[in-house]
Amino acid sequence: METLQNVLTPLTVGATVLPNRMVMGAMHTRLETLDRPHERLAAFYAARAAGEIGLILSGGFSPNPEGVMEEGGPLFNGRSQLDEHRVVTRAVHDAGGKIVLQILHAGRYAKVPECVAPSPGKARINSFAPHALSTEEVWRTIGDFVETAALAMEAGYDGVEIMGSEGYLVNEFTAERTNQRTDEFGGSFDARIRFPLEIVRAVRERLGRPPMLIYRISSIDLVEGGMIGLDVAAFARQIEAAGADLINTGVGWHESAVPTIAATVPRAVWRDAIRNVRQAVSIPVMASNRINTPQVAEDLIASGVADLVSMARPLLADPEFAKKTRLGIVDEINTCIACNQACLDRIFTERTATCLVNPRAGREIEFPIGIAAASRRIAVVGGGPAGMAFAINASERGHRVTLFEAEHQVGGQLNLAKAVPGKAEFHEMLRYFRVRLDKLGVTLRLGELATVETLTGEDFDEIVIATGVRPRVPDFPGIDHPKAVSYIDVLTGKVVVGQRVAIIGAGGIGFDVAEFLLGDAQESLDAQAFFRSWGVDVANAVPGGLATAAGHAGTKRSVHMFQRKAEPLGKRLGKSTGWILKAKLRKANIAMTAGASYDAIDDEGLHYTVDGKAHVLPVDHVVLCAGQDSNRDLYEHLRAKGLEPRVIGGADVASELDALRAIDQATRLAVTV
Ligand code: NAP
Ligand code: SF4
Repeated sequence: METLQNVLTPLTVGATVLPNRMVMGAMHTRLETLDRPHERLAAFYAARAAGEIGLILSGGFSPNPEGVMEEGGPLFNGRSQLDEHRVVTRAVHDAGGKIVLQILHAGRYAKVPECVAPSPGKARINSFAPHALSTEEVWRTIGDFVETAALAMEAGYDGVEIMGSEGYLVNEFTAERTNQRTDEFGGSFDARIRFPLEIVRAVRERLGRPPMLIYRISSIDLVEGGMIGLDVAAFARQIEAAGADLINTGVGWHESAVPTIAATVPRAVWRDAIRNVRQAVSIPVMASNRINTPQVAEDLIASGVADLVSMARPLLADPEFAKKTRLGIVDEINTCIACNQACLDRIFTERTATCLVNPRAGREIEFPIGIAAASRRIAVVGGGPAGMAFAINASERGHRVTLFEAEHQVGGQLNLAKAVPGKAEFHEMLRYFRVRLDKLGVTLRLGELATVETLTGEDFDEIVIATGVRPRVPDFPGIDHPKAVSYIDVLTGKVVVGQRVAIIGAGGIGFDVAEFLLGDAQESLDAQAFFRSWGVDVANAVPGGLATAAGHAGTKRSVHMFQRKAEPLGKRLGKSTGWILKAKLRKANIAMTAGASYDAIDDEGLHYTVDGKAHVLPVDHVVLCAGQDSNRDLYEHLRAKGLEPRVIGGADVASELDALRAIDQATRLAVTV
């Protein structure tokens, strides 16, 4: 049992005592807008409150229509909206928690034609150009923040957080790059920080105490023309003087070219920028970004970087993060692997957020946790993500589960994923699965190939087939040449490929293999390697903390990726992470060819044709990453015997297979058996 004292110590914030130092950070889920009324949102937050999180910060609500994230985005500017907020605050309070409303004006990031900013100038990530606020409009906007804060109190929130980071309106005022105003809100440093200071002062005056007033500062802007560290510290002191109870820290702007929260970012890598804020003030400071385990949180507090930590995605992954920390069962925490696949990538594509490792997130109402009417004997064949997720969820419901896995370890494709640079977090996912299988007493039959005879010879009430996938082998001359190797052999280290490599297939695995072949494993684990690679001066001595990025530091392998489709390679990668991968591969001069047809592999290398022109690429190896086909042999054999097994994961549908769909499907099935 691991006891982590610092994260469990209560903390007084202004006039409020928080029971521990773990906070659920603000994150939009789209439940705020796509799912009215707010019952699902209320159930989502209530589960986190019941899981003993010290404080919840809501997703950001705009104080006026021009500040919304997009058409129909979260807006809180009238009494008619009070009731739907009350549903949420009541649910959180009933579950024993506290919740603060974040007020977020999106400024020039607002995807609406009427968006506004301190100065003219379109953001690279928005097609709408902002209107520059007049002085009178700036004062009116400050008033809008105050009105929303007052409404938040009426709705039952325990305080408000002013969103001053990530490049939204307030942050746009403080940075020279977006503030060229000549009135009292621009020009000098003091004038640029006046807008947030006026907001904090006016909100404090209107709310009085005890409501908590939190300001989220940009600890390092990571854009040209951002603040330097000395200015951040001076600004933080003024925020304290203006009446804030707590300073939360943000990292980077949304348009920044440096990744800040993806799995490729080492854990707690922004600690120096956060410590700079903490050393400047006497009120508590909260750390954020890439904090996903209680141990990392404990270390940040114990080493004086911050007084408490904010975690958004880790609370999607496990609503009981804080409770399990208190109980000393941290190895049972379902850890966020920073993949962004089911949360940010879904939000960015107009779907409600959930979580790859926890499909219940955001769907608490449709996935009730309960014991089955009768306990049944269930055989699960296949110990990949689908089989393990089913086994765990079915066992939690009181069933007696036996899990067959032909390999001597569980994990399936996850064992491959964890070998890829930047995917070390998959180790945590495997740890969680193993610990839960063990604690729930699932009978593991490892190294055993389940057959029709095994399954029919024992008295199972239900058989679930999760036998996964087999790599697809393309059909063209020379595919059996020794130069042609499967991605599995490469990622498991069975084959060490030569210096000149072609990759056939540019889906998630083709990109994973390309990254693997570059040998940059350290970048996601070692802070200095990460800073060098992405050009970050974390001491923030230069504006925005941007230094010159180093060239590619890995092996000098020459890698050429191919696909048959004519579209750009990587077009279908996740929205929030694909750009990072593509930027890395570009830097490493990886060649990419779309619209290829494959003619042959022989001693010369790979023969292919593009636009009717034949080419030959001399290579040592051709790595086949051409997708997968379902492994359904056992399923078909059982059906032929008249049985009706269930089939889940890759064995059900191989195309677009990923752990997200596999775990979701397995969990859905488990709650019905
Ligand atoms: P995939 O995404 O289906 O990609 C397969 C690739 O092989 C495509 O580029 C396809 O492009 C090519 N291909 C398909 N059939 C072929 C054939 N007969 N001959 C030659 N080329 C062929 O599969 P995957 O890359 O193996 O990934 C499997 C799943 O794991 C995906 O759903 C993916 O989302 C998931 N995954 C996700 C990540 C992530 O980071 N999010 C990482 C790894 C894997 P053309 O048809 O254009 O040639
Ligand atoms: Fe974390 Fe991935 Fe779940 Fe998002 S989907 S919360 S990044 S594990």
